[in-house]
Amino acid sequence: LALAWCTGAGAAPTVVVDTGHSLAMPGVYAATGNTEFAYNLLISNRVAERLQDMGMTVLRSGQDGKANVLTGRTRGTAGVDLFISIHHDSMQQSWLDAGRRGDYSGFAVFVSDKNPQPQPSLACAKAVGQALVQAGEHPSLYHATAIAGENRPLIDRANGVHRFDNLAVLRTAKSPAILLEVGVIVNPAEAQRLAKEDVVAALAAEIADGVAACLAKGQSIKR
Ligand SMILES: [Zn+2]
Repeated sequence: LALAWCTGAGAAPTVVVDTGHSLAMPGVYAATGNTEFAYNLLISNRVAERLQDMGMTVLRSGQDGKANVLTGRTRGTAGVDLFISIHHDSMQQSWLDAGRRGDYSGFAVFVSDKNPQPQPSLACAKAVGQALVQAGEHPSLYHATAIAGENRPLIDRANGVHRFDNLAVLRTAKSPAILLEVGVIVNPAEAQRLAKEDVVAALAAEIADGVAACLAKGQSIKR
C-alpha cells in the first residue's frame, strides 16, 4: 500500500478511534466473563498504534472508560477524515436462550445515511470489511435477519456492510464515520480467540490497512 502522505504528497489524514462503551456501561458480557469494553479497548489501542505508525494523526475517544454520553464521542469530528467506533457483538436473546451461542460468528460494519458524508463513510466501511475478509475473517450477516431488533439492510454482503441510520455516533459525527463489530463475543470460541494478543494484533493491522486504503483513495481524488 503506497501511502501518499508518507512521501509528502498530501497531508496525513486524521482519524478518531472510538472505544465503544465505558466502565459504567460496559456493553455485552463475553462468554469469558470479560466485558465488551475490555475487548474494545484492547483492539482499539492496537488500531490507534498502527494508524500512528502509518503516519496518521490519531485522536482517541472513549479510551478512558468515562464516555457515558454517546454524542460526546463525536464532538471532535469536524474536519476529521474518519471516525471509527470499535465494538464487539452479541446476538438476539432468543438465539441465546435457544443455546445457539456457537452458531454465530464474524464481523459487521455499519454506516448511516444520516451521516453528513455517507459516500466516504461507505467507502471506508467497504475497505475495512474487505481487509478483514482478505485476512480470512468472515462477515456475520445475521444483522440482516428480517426480525425485530435486526433488519439492518445489507448493502455489501461480501464485505459485511450494513445500513443502521440511527446509530448515534454515526449520525452525530461531522466526519465520515463507521462502526465496526469486530466479532461475536457471546460465542465462547470467538470470545477465546478474540482475547488472544496475536489475533488482536493481526486484526488491528487489517483494520488499519482498510482505513489507510480508503483514505489514500480519498486523497488521490481530492488532488
Ligand atoms: Zn457495543
